[in-house]
Amino acid sequence: MIYDALVIGAGPAGATAALMLSRAGWSVAVVEKKAFPRRKVCGEFISATSRPLLQQLGLGERFDALAGPDVRRVGLYAGATMVDAPMPKPSHTGAPWGRALGREHFDLMLLEAAAQAGATLWQPWTVAALERRERGYACRLAHKDSERTLAARIVIDAHGSWERGPLPAQSLRSHRPSDLIAFKAHFKESRLPADLMPLLVFPGGYGGLVHSDGGRVSLSCCVRRDVLAAVRQRHGAASAGEAVVQHIKESCVGVRDVLAGARIDGAILSAGPIRPGIRRRYADGMFFVGNSAGEAHPIVAEGISMAMQSAWLLCRRLMAQPDAAASPRALAGIGQAYAADWDAAFALRLRAAALFANVATRPGPPALLLLLLLLLLKRFPDILTFGAHLTGKAKDLVAAA
Ligand SMILES: Cc1cc2nc3c(=O)[nH]c(=O)nc-3n(C[C@H](O)[C@H](O)[C@H](O)COP(=O)(O)OP(=O)(O)OC[C@H]3O[C@@H](n4cnc5c(N)ncnc54)[C@H](O)[C@@H]3O)c2cc1C
Repeated sequence: MIYDALVIGAGPAGATAALMLSRAGWSVAVVEKKAFPRRKVCGEFISATSRPLLQQLGLGERFDALAGPDVRRVGLYAGATMVDAPMPKPSHTGAPWGRALGREHFDLMLLEAAAQAGATLWQPWTVAALERRERGYACRLAHKDSERTLAARIVIDAHGSWERGPLPAQSLRSHRPSDLIAFKAHFKESRLPADLMPLLVFPGGYGGLVHSDGGRVSLSCCVRRDVLAAVRQRHGAASAGEAVVQHIKESCVGVRDVLAGARIDGAILSAGPIRPGIRRRYADGMFFVGNSAGEAHPIVAEGISMAMQSAWLLCRRLMAQPDAAASPRALAGIGQAYAADWDAAFALRLRAAALFANVATRPGPPALLLLLLLLLLKRFPDILTFGAHLTGKAKDLVAAA
């Protein structure tokens, strides 16, 4: 059999693409290397701008039943500074607030919906190689000692960006002092106000705290490789994750306060180095969605929304021309239009995120710019609301279409 589309990876980007195309009557194979449910390094915040898409996918009610509380305020904890301001509201009515949900629940919910819509799951299987054929791709799958080859007219590459491998958008691992290594921990019994999502800025990194499902608070962060090495040395026997949590607590009074008496729930996870930036969106019958197309610094907590929305942007185009796979020219046209949609939707927030991340992770004592920003924020906390606007927290892509 030749599938209409083969999707590599069942994170939010891949599962959304598989669900949309299957509902539209396409034959879709989704290949995911990990067994679900699985936890993942991520802050777990799902911006209000994703709510219309979840609704459209028929998952709004299920999400509401599982997710943590409404996040109505954005904050900043840096050193002794603790400020907060209202979260901007997207223009659509209905559900104006973002909420957080553990990836073991969120990704599973999307993938189950894709399977119910008719997508064939290959899980846990890894796409090990792709070969261009006259009418699409031959995809070699591997699992333990077994191998399979699947044929598909188009490939949707949604394998994320943090893993090394042989596929076109997979990275050569970098090893620079400025690389950002990511961590995530869950806590129970924290004193973080239920409606507040503070951004954390600490020497060598940034992070975030937010209430997720089941009474858990998620702490996620990125820290420079060189700072991580120094922090590990300072904290001796502690694991890398424990040393980073200690480092954040030492540096941020706000974190120390809200986590006093809280206990860690589950293992501290790590990933990376992360690879923010814009990459290819189309190449020769292959479309890229989610992090594999482009990634904002997680300082803005928009990656899940961007992953789902990029899949939606692509699938809209593909579904409008279901016979395009027969013509390389038509596919290239769709690729070009999708890349333009992608830029219009996400390029500004990527740049804003890179600017904030740069200020936050400069090595050495806090840069003048950061100190100035903290002084300004203490006097005018609404700058935080503006910053959240700039990074897409009110940009209603799906509702506006
Ligand atoms: C510290 C941190 C905090 C963050 N916090 C937030 C937040 O609060 N809110 C937010 O919106 N975003 C956040 N993000 C970003 C978010 O996690 C990502 O942007 C999002 O997961 C991207 O989704 P994706 O579907 O593109 O890729 P992924 O979620 O990475 O999914 C890719 C999938 O592909 C699979 N895969 C990989 N290679 C193969 C292969 N060869 N064959 C088969 N399967 C394969 C993987 O197992 C994985 O399941 C954060 C990121 C970090 C680092």
